[in-house]
Amino acid sequence: MLKQRHDIKSQTLASLRQHLQEAGYPDYAARQVFNWVYKKREESFFSMTNLSRSLRHYLKDNFYFSSLRLVKERQSRDGSVKFLFALEDKTYIESVLIPEGKRNTVCLSSQVGCRFGCRFCASGLLGFKRNLTPAEIVNQCLYVSDWLKRREAKLTNVVFMGIGEPFDNYGNVIKALRIILEPQGMYIGKRKVVISTCGLAPAIKAFAAENIGVGLSISLHAAKDSLRNIIMPVNKIYPLSELFSAVRLFNRRCKYSLTFEYIMISNFNISKEDVLRLKKMVKGLNYKINLIPYNPVSSFNWQPPSSGEIFRFCRWLKEEGVFFTLRRPRGQDIEGACGQLRLRQKQGKI
Ligand code: SAH
Repeated sequence: MLKQRHDIKSQTLASLRQHLQEAGYPDYAARQVFNWVYKKREESFFSMTNLSRSLRHYLKDNFYFSSLRLVKERQSRDGSVKFLFALEDKTYIESVLIPEGKRNTVCLSSQVGCRFGCRFCASGLLGFKRNLTPAEIVNQCLYVSDWLKRREAKLTNVVFMGIGEPFDNYGNVIKALRIILEPQGMYIGKRKVVISTCGLAPAIKAFAAENIGVGLSISLHAAKDSLRNIIMPVNKIYPLSELFSAVRLFNRRCKYSLTFEYIMISNFNISKEDVLRLKKMVKGLNYKINLIPYNPVSSFNWQPPSSGEIFRFCRWLKEEGVFFTLRRPRGQDIEGACGQLRLRQKQGKI
């Protein structure tokens, strides 16, 4: 019978070390393998020349390298690049590279599709297929990092803001995070990584206890339950009071980087009342709000805010002392909003 092989890029340094130790190899072997895979970017065990012959054979018999197949690459006029990938089971995910000055950020997908059906987001429209493995998450990062290297640039930041809900694939996302952060591996700085969630309160609490050191971003988008229920059905399971008790816990335990994402939708969530509610909700927290104009998705009827509406909302926030930054929408001409490119692939439009 053929032995079941493991995807090498789904292994954290700790799990690979344990595996190799149990097979009788020294403590440093896993570190050497990590170095080959992530620093030297070697994807053939036989070319890992400082490993013993026996270890190379053992690795080949027990592990394999998965890869992503690029289906489409689109570059936006503003410099962001969107990659559509096919996975081994012929499902599709996308990653986006967002260059900003010296910073190169990759936006990663965590699932094929999404279960949460936010009423402004293209990702949920095609339903949920499956969770990504740690390697499928890590592979997106590696692909973009290699792409940048060929252009003499470096991947500096990672955000989990692509397709899927990272906390709905908690175990695999945490493993991928550990691989991405690993000094013997990709070694992206902790403070340069952000996980974004639609607000799964129990997972936020678990994540706070994990204390990995990466930033947390909450997709808030509305400041009262009756509005949030309309655009984010998950709010009916974890309403704002529950979400904020988890967020407060996170903020007490992990003093760094808490962000709220707030999509501005015309005539919906940008009134003076919304500002006052927001002010009350974030009181006492160490936070920043990212304001993003709604990026139109054709299946939904929402309108992006006019520049007058944006200006007014920002002025009110300022007057009330609420901290925010206004984000330029990126990649609009390449369907940069979460899940849009994958949606077109399914509709046969690309
Ligand atoms: N499920 C996670 C991560 C994916 S969404 C989460 O909810 O946070 C990543 C970000 O893209 C979220 O803040 C989401 O609200 C935003 N987004 C999705 N569709 C958008 C659209 N049409 N316009 C602007 N931002 C959008």
